[in-house]
Amino acid sequence: MPLDASSLVHELLRDHADSPAPDFLSAAIARTGRVAMVSSFGADSAVLLHMVAQIDRNLPVLFIDTLALFPETVTYQRSLAAHLGLLNVQTITPDRAELFSQDTDGLLHRSDTERCCSLRKAKPLERALQGYDAWITGRKRYQAATRSDLERAELEQGTGRIRLNPLVNWATPEIGAYLGTQDLPRHPLIARGYPSIGCQPCTSRVLTGEDPRAGRWRGTEKTECGIHFIGDVSQSEKKADAA
Ligand code: SF4
Repeated sequence: MPLDASSLVHELLRDHADSPAPDFLSAAIARTGRVAMVSSFGADSAVLLHMVAQIDRNLPVLFIDTLALFPETVTYQRSLAAHLGLLNVQTITPDRAELFSQDTDGLLHRSDTERCCSLRKAKPLERALQGYDAWITGRKRYQAATRSDLERAELEQGTGRIRLNPLVNWATPEIGAYLGTQDLPRHPLIARGYPSIGCQPCTSRVLTGEDPRAGRWRGTEKTECGIHFIGDVSQSEKKADAA
């Protein structure tokens, strides 16, 4: 009888506590059924995408195009996918009718970032993940206080899906070393002062000495877009509704 998701999470954490990230990822993909990777094709994304490409080039890779991305990100997505030989990249976009009714002028991000992220990111991803047992994220503990206690595998409350976070204990040095060793193409905006890259209206340049994510939603307390809370009683929705 196949293991339930909770037991599988427990086993992955137990059996792969100290495994290198590619080994953990390979074992997790083999054991978790229908798996998709979710990627922003941002500053660090090439690392995990490269690992996935070494394991299974047909694995579904879900790319959320919020329709507010930098043009450089869209171009980079295509070129990196081709470079890695990824064969199953699926572009996820917001529901057009919802977009036009709730963000008519495309300026919702100025007045309500929670609702905008819900509309353009969380809801489309939630729809796209229907039918999957697990999804792979590139989250790392060092990135934010909200991520400091992340585990490599976790159970998504509400949906029973498994979230796999193979790079949870990686930080800037490991990422830089991997990108260099594998000679992976870099997102073009990194060289222009963007170490963390999201939507164009909500991402600004980072100055020397600032936190790499300081340019995301600068001047606000927001640090997460909410896609990693989907399923957790849809916290992104609750935040949006409360705003
Ligand atoms: S990051 Fe900004 S533009 Fe993108 S979905 Fe969130 S609020 Fe909207």
